[in-house]
Amino acid sequence: MNEPDAKAIGMKRLKMDIKIELTKPFIITEGISGTWFYHISKKNNFVRSLCGKPTMKTSLTFRSWGIKTHLNERYCEKCFGLALNEMW
Ligand SMILES: [Zn+2]
Repeated sequence: MNEPDAKAIGMKRLKMDIKIELTKPFIITEGISGTWFYHISKKNNFVRSLCGKPTMKTSLTFRSWGIKTHLNERYCEKCFGLALNEMW
């Protein structure tokens, strides 16, 4: 059997994620109300989201975009749409 090496694929995926993370002009930011409402901002202007809301820095990466936990995170659809238009 020629099964693809799952570990090798995992590493490749991880490297790709890191590359995207480093090269994309956007970061995930959080609305200043601090209620786990996430927006997307330009890397050089993290105090305002693409949709125009005041934001602050967060450690969240794009790999976590859309993931919901018990904190009931919410993600700004408007920012996501605007980022998609510019990036992909
Ligand atoms: Zn937004």
